[in-house]
Amino acid sequence: MKPPLELHLGDVVWLRKPHPCGASDWTVVRLGADIGLRCLGCQHRILLPRSDLERRLLRIERGESATPPTDEEHATG
Ligand SMILES: [Zn+2]
Repeated sequence: MKPPLELHLGDVVWLRKPHPCGASDWTVVRLGADIGLRCLGCQHRILLPRSDLERRLLRIERGESATPPTDEEHATG
């Protein structure tokens, strides 16, 4: 028994089969029964059932920043 795949928004995943655009790395943009991925080559978005993703997954890299991304980056002043 394998532990459940741990995914977080912003993680980068490499899939076994590259996208037609040539990129094989994707960013996790949505979590749920289906996992939303955005191609880093062409920004195309797909939804994959979690089980499909686990089968195609080569490796995961945690998002670069430990802090969650913020939409508000306006500096005061
Ligand atoms: Zn692509």
